[in-house]
Amino acid sequence: MKSWKLTSQGSIELITTPSETPGFGQVKIKVEKTSISLPDLMIYMGKSKVDYPITLGRNCVGMIIETGPGVEDFKRGDKVYVCAKKYCGQCPACKSGHYFLCDDFKTFGYNTDGFMRDFAIIDASDCALLPERIDSNEAIFLDHISLATQVLTALKINKGEYVAISGCGLPGLILGEVALYLQAIPIMIDTDSKMLSLAKRLGIYYTINSTETNPEEKIFHITGGKMAKHSAVFTSGNISVEQALSFAGIGARIAVVERPGIVTKQKCGIDIIQNNCLSLFGVNGGTNIQISINMLVNRAIDLSTLSEMNVRIDEIPDIMKELAESTRKYHLQYIVDI
Ligand SMILES: [Zn+2]
Repeated sequence: MKSWKLTSQGSIELITTPSETPGFGQVKIKVEKTSISLPDLMIYMGKSKVDYPITLGRNCVGMIIETGPGVEDFKRGDKVYVCAKKYCGQCPACKSGHYFLCDDFKTFGYNTDGFMRDFAIIDASDCALLPERIDSNEAIFLDHISLATQVLTALKINKGEYVAISGCGLPGLILGEVALYLQAIPIMIDTDSKMLSLAKRLGIYYTINSTETNPEEKIFHITGGKMAKHSAVFTSGNISVEQALSFAGIGARIAVVERPGIVTKQKCGIDIIQNNCLSLFGVNGGTNIQISINMLVNRAIDLSTLSEMNVRIDEIPDIMKELAESTRKYHLQYIVDI
């Protein structure tokens, strides 16, 4: 079995190990696709700390080629998606629905090996069955869609309500698309005109470039003075949490969003939280992958313009080096074909 392992900061090596068979409750997967995500890049550059060696690649579309004893839900030949995060489902946090506080919480490619490899042996419970008609190049976005649905569920968003989305990166764009699907009204705020143009092409009518327009004044105008009832801010984006607070109306709910492995330290104004009776909470991933699969089946969101390129697995060391050295900011999805 071949793995492209990060052995130290900025160094990926091809490691070959003998073939293995799945144990009790496990499946062996032929990995078809994974991706280079922003957290992968942060780990590669040493900006996010991990124990070496580790195989990067958070998510996986693959095919089951062997099942271990005790596996009844899957069979050889099933197409599956493996979510980026795994939790035990048994500890008190899991049982109360707080999966991200699990005693044994793991993220593939961060604190357990990810999917820049040809075969993987994983727990069957980490797999979700994919209908054959879902394109693998779309399925690789399932964790992003799941994060978006988690944010919008936590915000308790209703039809016709405004949601200010600060950070027009890949997860922000997908959040905007899912908000549209739920018939809410996204207002996208960023400093990157290229990404804001892409948001427009995806049908997001209200976009604000905060380097050209005062976003507070614009949102005041759009919402008839009420400001946004909901606000989501990506902490690795171009808009600070402090500024995002000012886009929200009285009593608004604010989701502070990021994926595990991306850590930012920011200050934010307690005065505005108190004066405007805001509710702040953190979201760092989605747990209901089935809703996201249904969205793909129903063609609810357009993913056709959200891939930067497909790369071959043997190109990974060069591509990661290039991305790390590039002054160009990481933008869209890099899909890895294995
Ligand atoms: Zn748990």
